[in-house]
Amino acid sequence: MAKDFYQILGVPDTATPPEIKKAYRRLAKQYHPDANPNNPQAAERFKEISEAHTVLSDADQRSKYDRMRKYGAFGGGGAPRPRGGPGAPGPSAGDDGSFDFGDIGLGDIFSSIFGNRTRREEPRGVEALETLVEIPFRVAAMGGKVPVSVTVMEPCGTCHGSGAAPGATVEKCSECNGSGTVTFGQGSFAVHRPCPKCRGKGKIPSQYCGTCAGAGEIRTERRLSVTVPPGTESGTKIRLKGQGHPARDGRPAGDLLVTFQVQADRFFAREGLDLRCEVPINLAQAVYGTTLKVRTLDGKKVVLKVPAGTQPGRTFRIKGIGLEENGRKGDQLITVNVQIPEPPTGESAELFKQYAE
Ligand SMILES: [Zn+2]
Ligand SMILES: [Zn+2]
Repeated sequence: MAKDFYQILGVPDTATPPEIKKAYRRLAKQYHPDANPNNPQAAERFKEISEAHTVLSDADQRSKYDRMRKYGAFGGGGAPRPRGGPGAPGPSAGDDGSFDFGDIGLGDIFSSIFGNRTRREEPRGVEALETLVEIPFRVAAMGGKVPVSVTVMEPCGTCHGSGAAPGATVEKCSECNGSGTVTFGQGSFAVHRPCPKCRGKGKIPSQYCGTCAGAGEIRTERRLSVTVPPGTESGTKIRLKGQGHPARDGRPAGDLLVTFQVQADRFFAREGLDLRCEVPINLAQAVYGTTLKVRTLDGKKVVLKVPAGTQPGRTFRIKGIGLEENGRKGDQLITVNVQIPEPPTGESAELFKQYAE
């Protein structure tokens, strides 16, 4: 179970940076090795406090840590340790039970925060099912839910996995003599394979189940609604515990690993918490100035005043309407593209010629 940095510092997860700093200073003073000579417990505690402060005092690391914490890095099992000041919050993560990053150790938290995450061994369950899900740009940016459908092997409801028709008698397989395995070759060259006649089951029914044709399982499409955390980027993976293949042969149900792929948007591009977009204006608008209504991420419009004499490619910044993460808000950056008209004809052609000269 990973450590809860908020608990270690004895602050709520809504603590402001000054509150975190204050809590850190108080505890660091209390547990500093200089004040506690030859006290390994205090030294250990001091180390924890420093780790917690390192992560929580950096806005970027804190937001990454918060996301992992929120989506279950601390969920399930293990009573919260009575650490920190009175009223220190217990782990609140995993309440909805829909996310579980598994039993992540502190090392994993750090390697994940610092970007060289090592792949963990799968727990001893049914193998995890992996799927790639395309999500719209807006959902990725603002968060939301997306439908996901996966094909899983469900135990057959008719034969309950045995592969035998109801009422059929079951006999030992003659091919493998009930072992479920056949052997080719000899001695150290021997190769063992699941028996093709009984499909590794060691038993043969007098009549196969009509629903699954004896396989004992059927392919089923399962539809899920998956929560997309706000600010999700392409390549972000989430693990949905037990949402993959169902439990089988006494092994627990497998997990579902969802990798998000963010679709490009025709209008917006993301740059950290900022959003970039381009709007066309005509020559007269650039020369005399204009007022534009520009689309924002939440589908509303914002008024942009383009001053007279605006040069092509100029970028305007509207503060605070970009992406939001832990109270920090990005901006929307609007670049104006001045469209050069086709050579005019008639009266305006004369005016343009005069202007050129
Ligand atoms: Zn069946
Ligand atoms: Zn067999």
